[in-house]
Amino acid sequence: MENDRDIHGNVGFMPQYFERAMKIAANKKEGLVFLHSHPIPGWQAMSKDDVIAESRISPAVMGATGLPLVGMTVGTDGAWSARYWLKDKEQKRKYDRYWCATVRVIGKKLSITFNDALMPPAFDSAKQLRTISAWGKATQEDISRLRIGIVGLGSVGSIVAEILARTGISHFTLIDFDAVEDKNLDRLTNIFSSDIGRAKVKAVSDGIKRSATSPKIFIDECEYSICEKQGYEKALNCDILFSCVDRPWPRQVLNFIAYAHLIPVIDGGILVRTNASNTKIIGADWKAQTVGYDRACLECTGQYKSENASLEKSGMLDDPDYIKGMNKTQFQDAHENVFVFSSHLASMEVLQLLSLYIGPSGVADVGQQMYHFVIGKQDTTVKHCHENCFFQTIIGKGDKASVTVYGDHPVAAEARKKRMPNTEKVQNGWKVAIVRFFERLFWRKK
Ligand SMILES: [Zn+2]
Ligand SMILES: [Zn+2]
Repeated sequence: MENDRDIHGNVGFMPQYFERAMKIAANKKEGLVFLHSHPIPGWQAMSKDDVIAESRISPAVMGATGLPLVGMTVGTDGAWSARYWLKDKEQKRKYDRYWCATVRVIGKKLSITFNDALMPPAFDSAKQLRTISAWGKATQEDISRLRIGIVGLGSVGSIVAEILARTGISHFTLIDFDAVEDKNLDRLTNIFSSDIGRAKVKAVSDGIKRSATSPKIFIDECEYSICEKQGYEKALNCDILFSCVDRPWPRQVLNFIAYAHLIPVIDGGILVRTNASNTKIIGADWKAQTVGYDRACLECTGQYKSENASLEKSGMLDDPDYIKGMNKTQFQDAHENVFVFSSHLASMEVLQLLSLYIGPSGVADVGQQMYHFVIGKQDTTVKHCHENCFFQTIIGKGDKASVTVYGDHPVAAEARKKRMPNTEKVQNGWKVAIVRFFERLFWRKK
């Protein structure tokens, strides 16, 4: 509006403009971001005037919205930098600046600007010579700083981890509550007989450390389900998530994160069809797709059914009598998965990541890719969400989406308890024995 800005040398704004913006934010129960531009490229520092302006308006923004002011600056190359302001712990009315490590911009393509001071690149030109020759040093610098979450470390997840470690990813978050079993040995990468009984996240983490070409590796091992609060919160630290799960509830949680928290999710699934006696293969198909902003969601593309997610949440899907009567209606990364199918799918999923992040020749969205083993062909389709898709209504709402998607997960809790370290089991055993001893003593006295 007229008189909102004061354009003399540096651009300033008038109090009425700020008041109006605050009112709108408070009414919508949203936060306030203060944006401006600089005439140079890259991650932007702040001028003295920038600091004064943002620190001055921080208390009012916190007061009106309950959220910290976010300050953002864009450079001439489209790179965004960001910081937020929190109340000083000691001085009243004083607000301190906290720099963000990265800013993600999501369209068809995912662009990330990195704060070099907090997130320096980590790559090794000698070990990654061939990789760098494919897409150049600048891209490798950006790849080395991506924070990748792999949810589910079955056959596909463990192979995705191996590919990414070789490619030079440095930051991994591994989310899986399960332990390695005998039956995993024919399908999991970097898993050996000596790993049986160990948490999958630990075994796959060891594999990443062995295969990594990045000189600095950070691995967050999370022995929880994405459907539990601990796993869910770990996932929110990532720039991109790989959905390598076979159940509807974790898929629903990941779908929610893709829209509410704007973290793209790369999902895949394999379906093998056999004859009635399971002695002959009739067909095998697998598909990979990326979901999130400006793309169709996992529910609308039929990757899971919300009623099945609810069934799983209630525990019914783990009731053998109940599932006996169910149809195999979904793509599942379940029991019939074999290594050669999984490795092809894992590769397709990482290719989806490269399209999304590098956008070769300007193409970032290749659509849903489905490979048919029998005829040796791949279909590519661009899908859309249904008109009244819930997930399209919560885009970017984050914690304010007013839905809780995680909950108690007895199966995950039981799996963790089973592999409690032996020393802990012995200690717990002693505790129980001592309590019983005193109980007996007490009753005898009575
Ligand atoms: Zn400035
Ligand atoms: Zn949808």
